[in-house]
Amino acid sequence: MVVSRSRALLLFMVTRWGRSLQFVFEEDSWICQSHIAMPSATMTAQEVRAVWTSEKGSMANQTAETRWAKIIQGTIDDVGETAAAEDVDSQKRAESIAIQIALKGIKKGIEQNKPLTPLQDDGKLDIQEWNKQLAAIGNCSWKHCPWLFGECYMYRSIQRILNSSKHWQNYDIFKRQKDSTFVKSRAAVEELTSRYMQIVANTQLAQDESKEEAKKLLFIEMTEIALWGNATDLSLLANLTLEDLQNLQGREAIQKSQQNIVDNDTDDVWAYLQRTSGQASRQIDIVLDNAGFEFFTDLLYAAYLLDAGIATSVRLHTKEFPWFVSDVISEDVESLFEHLDSSECFPSREYIDQLIPRLRKFFQSGAITTTSDSFWTTPYSFHEMPVKAPALFKELQNSYLVIFKGDLNYRKLTRDGLWPHTTTYEEALGPLGKQSGVKILSLRTNKSDVCVGVPTQSKVDELNEKAPGGAWIQNGKYAVVSFNEGL
Ligand SMILES: [Mg+2]
Repeated sequence: MVVSRSRALLLFMVTRWGRSLQFVFEEDSWICQSHIAMPSATMTAQEVRAVWTSEKGSMANQTAETRWAKIIQGTIDDVGETAAAEDVDSQKRAESIAIQIALKGIKKGIEQNKPLTPLQDDGKLDIQEWNKQLAAIGNCSWKHCPWLFGECYMYRSIQRILNSSKHWQNYDIFKRQKDSTFVKSRAAVEELTSRYMQIVANTQLAQDESKEEAKKLLFIEMTEIALWGNATDLSLLANLTLEDLQNLQGREAIQKSQQNIVDNDTDDVWAYLQRTSGQASRQIDIVLDNAGFEFFTDLLYAAYLLDAGIATSVRLHTKEFPWFVSDVISEDVESLFEHLDSSECFPSREYIDQLIPRLRKFFQSGAITTTSDSFWTTPYSFHEMPVKAPALFKELQNSYLVIFKGDLNYRKLTRDGLWPHTTTYEEALGPLGKQSGVKILSLRTNKSDVCVGVPTQSKVDELNEKAPGGAWIQNGKYAVVSFNEGL
């Protein structure tokens, strides 16, 4: 019998020692891959544990083994490049040496799997909380720790070094990467802008009562643009070519990708919005993920929600300091406009020149505002929000709809837990789910180890067959549009 040499020919799986072992014939040899064994569907929420970086076959493990050190090296190179510029203050340049040495210390710690140690004081109030949580976890190391904590700890460690300096405290160590990727998404930005401006020109978004179905289709399209904008997370883009990026972002790709939404509650969100459209105040909160192209799609989405009369105002939540490489900080808002204004970055001006004043007006009138809460840059999952950030929790309860963008928010919403995939979204939300009073919509492309809300086990089996080894939870080609009303 001729055995195909193509990749990933799934031959059989067995379960041993609590792990699924998957045997694959790849190139000329048999390869045994293990992937994480999922807990049984009868487990209670308390029993569902969070994923650790030592979990073989997990995205957690892959991240700790290969991506973290690269990300730190990127920060070392970035500081070096900034310090080498001619116009840099000599004291700032001198300080860059100590910063690079400290960053190399983090990198070495990761590579040599050193224990995670309490963060040294940098004059900020949150350090004690971090160290308390580290103490609660107990002995752990970079490659043997809860992934959510370890990864947040890494970004806080980088910021601690900058906070402890004199000249680099407000420096965005990831700005260079964020900017360069946004410029590469030129074709997608131009395409989406022209599409949006044509919609605005051709329809009375808020008034046309007779076209309910058309309005719903437009809602689906705009929601999916915001969803797939999340596919471009800089921390995952290391191997993507410009062509890949453009394919990923084009509108055609967005349409094609609809079949890859494994939990799709778009109809439920739409029904909620229709049912409640008479409410006087309809503030929609968007807890942002990445700057650049994704943030551009978020702004387009915010404009649509306002233009269509779905929201009366939109509040954008940014991070307080550079976080997970590409997350939006408040400075990224103006930076986006600066890029859009530049005909060097975006030479095709016709529609962009129409869009910019429209967006600016929303900010000037207060229809779109930005805010930041220190809770977003803690290592806590959102299950801890009612206790650790009660004021923020209350604000979200009062919101008409809270949209959480992206993978990290989803991990935090679900406690980064290895839930059975058929667990309902409501259950995995814990205190933010049933009777929380928070109306939550997640728009997230799957790039980690957690995914809930898949309607049936047969659907899970089908996904495992189509994208084996947990690929559908990890590779960013699948997504969720998950909604819970908090009733
Ligand atoms: Mg991010």
